[in-house]
Amino acid sequence: MSDMVLTGGTVVTADASFRADVAVEGERIAAVGLDLPTNGAEVVDVSGALLMPGFIDGHTHLDMPFGGTVTADDWDTGTASAVAGGTTTVVDFSLQDVEGTLAEAVETWQGKADGKARIDYGLHVAITNLTDAVKQEIPSLPGLGVSTIKIFMAYKGTPLFTADEDLFEALQIAREAEVLVLVHAENGDVIAKLQAQALARGDVSPRWHGLTRPETVEAEATNRAIRLASIAGTPLLVVHVSCAAALDEVRRAHARGQTVYAETCPQYFCFSDADLARDGFEGAKYVCSPPLRDPSNRDALWHGLQVGDLQIFGSDHCSFNYAGQKELGRDDFTAIPNGLPGAEERPAALWTHGVRTGRITEQRFVAVLAANQARIHGLAGRKGALVPGADADIVVWDPDRTIDVTQANRHGNVDYTPYVGITLTGAPAAVYLRGTEAYRDGEILSQPGSGQFLQRAFRQPAPGPAVR
Ligand SMILES: [Zn+2]
Repeated sequence: MSDMVLTGGTVVTADASFRADVAVEGERIAAVGLDLPTNGAEVVDVSGALLMPGFIDGHTHLDMPFGGTVTADDWDTGTASAVAGGTTTVVDFSLQDVEGTLAEAVETWQGKADGKARIDYGLHVAITNLTDAVKQEIPSLPGLGVSTIKIFMAYKGTPLFTADEDLFEALQIAREAEVLVLVHAENGDVIAKLQAQALARGDVSPRWHGLTRPETVEAEATNRAIRLASIAGTPLLVVHVSCAAALDEVRRAHARGQTVYAETCPQYFCFSDADLARDGFEGAKYVCSPPLRDPSNRDALWHGLQVGDLQIFGSDHCSFNYAGQKELGRDDFTAIPNGLPGAEERPAALWTHGVRTGRITEQRFVAVLAANQARIHGLAGRKGALVPGADADIVVWDPDRTIDVTQANRHGNVDYTPYVGITLTGAPAAVYLRGTEAYRDGEILSQPGSGQFLQRAFRQPAPGPAVR
């Protein structure tokens, strides 16, 4: 017996697309197949739509302090914007307090999300102060349902910056603890030097944010992190790969048989260094790290997504208002809070520029937005696949729905959208979270507090590129 049957759609998985009905019982998927019995169940005709597992965004920053301010989106508005794009799970970064423990970071972030999250969520811990006590605490994280830690090689001069010896030791500990290390790979020493030199010359405008973080700075740190992970004998996830040179280091690791996961993000396909150089202070709206690149990098990134050198596509949603927040850096680009909104646009941007142009298949679309996210972020079995027993997180995807992005039709809280004026094709017609309708036709139906905390577990894979 099922409660609801979606009929007439085409199921898209990471491997194949096929005609099938999807039956839901309670919060779970009960069956996937042709001509499922509907007796007593609510029948929803989804003819013409594609049925996909709810998208997972393994990279968001909600209600996060940065550079003396706090992100514009909290757990209510941030998860509203995510579900409007088809995302039913986020994994967000709990930030360790410099004097605090990792458990306190998790507790603080659960407090921020509790009663506000409209979709399910997991938590990473971003390490800001890798003391001996924190090193000893890392093995306790899986017991809290946290399977990932983030280490920053950038942001020298702030507590986030982590030196190589500490990164290496964290990788060794992570191996024993069955925790996956995520790395922000940019050379913090070089950036700090280039920034100081730029400011001394009086080069203070937003475009210098990009010019002081050249591609090679990212490629060097990417290679260094990969080699350190190899010495430690553990996998690594390089987040927000922005350019061909950094991807090349990931590709070389795969050629050697090393398990390295890598993520890229929609902003690197939709915007470029030309946006950072916009007139006046407009470029501040496009400040994120790694920075937006020359468009010549995109062919390589598309290829990486299609062949699996890049396994996941995350938003790095980190929204700051233009008024009062981005403006903090009006006279000094290093004071501009880093980050762009993008949780809502992530799937449609990938469909528009990737699937509709033939650069990636619709199966790869599901792989990098859902299936691989679930495997790498420790949610497999419950999330990321439309199979019996999994949570009934379902996107009813309309491949032809076209939206002209305006500030008014966004669902987040930030006072601008970098996507304004861009036309995106492909959008959810409806989204279900554990069997309950969470979004339909522009309207958020999921309420604050509907989201549940997800226990995650990372299993050390056998050597080699385990997830394509
Ligand atoms: Zn981030």
